[in-house]
Amino acid sequence: MLTSDSLVAPARLPREIYLANASHGLPSAPVFKALQDYLVEEAEWGGAHAVERHEEQFAAGYAAAARLIGADTDEVAFLESGNRALQALILSLRLRPGDHVLVDRTCWGGTLDMLADLPGVVVDVMSTDAHGRADVAATRATVHPATRCILLTWCPATSGIVNPAEEVGVLAREIGAFYLIDACQLLGQRPVDVKRLGCHGLAASGRKWLRGPRGTSLLYASREFLSARPAFMADQLGRLRKDARSHEQGEASYAGRLALGVAIQGALTLGLDAIAAQLSEVSGQLREGLRALSCVNVVESGEDLSAIVAFSIEGLSPEYVLAELARQGIRIGTLSATYAPLDMAARGLDVVLRAAPQVYTSERDIAALLQAIARLAAMA
Ligand SMILES: *Cc1c(COP(=O)(O)O)cnc(C)c1O
Repeated sequence: MLTSDSLVAPARLPREIYLANASHGLPSAPVFKALQDYLVEEAEWGGAHAVERHEEQFAAGYAAAARLIGADTDEVAFLESGNRALQALILSLRLRPGDHVLVDRTCWGGTLDMLADLPGVVVDVMSTDAHGRADVAATRATVHPATRCILLTWCPATSGIVNPAEEVGVLAREIGAFYLIDACQLLGQRPVDVKRLGCHGLAASGRKWLRGPRGTSLLYASREFLSARPAFMADQLGRLRKDARSHEQGEASYAGRLALGVAIQGALTLGLDAIAAQLSEVSGQLREGLRALSCVNVVESGEDLSAIVAFSIEGLSPEYVLAELARQGIRIGTLSATYAPLDMAARGLDVVLRAAPQVYTSERDIAALLQAIARLAAMA
């Protein structure tokens, strides 16, 4: 059970029943306060000196980020978005025409677009099992010899499946490819240990499950990766560094960076095992409740599911459902095929409804959503 109310509860009273946590998690009071206080510091002291005055807090944030994923402090950096962190890792590979990149079916649309912009680089897609997860055994037989990198979406945005990240790491080692992980939907949901995963790089949004501020992300680059593949187009400050922060731009929202550090420290204080247990409990309730409604299709399957619940309602468009729920003060999300085109096409979906609880989600919130959906479906 999670005991620290000040780290669990949102800083501000949500205006709606809030179940759009896969898009944005609501910040806790310490995160919100850190953000506000730092802006005041910048206004009163100027940006450069404000950084100096808070050196210890920034260092504590990076140390916490390293602890969160089992890395060393010189292997983590704070960037501006999940996309930006993925881009930094991919560009540092310096792929050449004829190089192959192996992705899983749930690969983020933005990542596929980035890879398509690299001249001559070929993208291969892993085989999948019956649940749509990467099937490592089936993939092993078909890996192209010019595969330079495997890029795995650990937990997709489009459903609750969780890809077998450790097993994929074994395959990457076998074929001598770099291994990068998109953990945008996983970091903050579950414990992460990059050494066990054997990955060279990992990227995650700050605003999603870590409940950090917008415009932040975490980048991990292993020491080995940093020396083999230094940051691509580092800025003048980045060029002076050899650590993961060579990927950072000197100019950024320092308030955001500081507050992301506070969000990570909060997650560590609550404990990732306790967070994972709580998320499993509330998302389990939500999923079971939806499955019990005759008109609802929960469009994901498998034993080990994340807190993202994807579903559709027979006879009602996702856009209509979203708008109707919003009218009733309930906020969920939709996700269209552009965000994960391969996965959505394989599942025959254009748009999917997505509800994601957080540690602050109550049984009453879930009951309210289930009731509202039952009413909508009855009218369809
Ligand atoms: C959100 C997300 C991204 C992109 O992250 P941003 O912080 O929005 O740039 C990438 N991959 C997955 C799986 C995501 O859910």
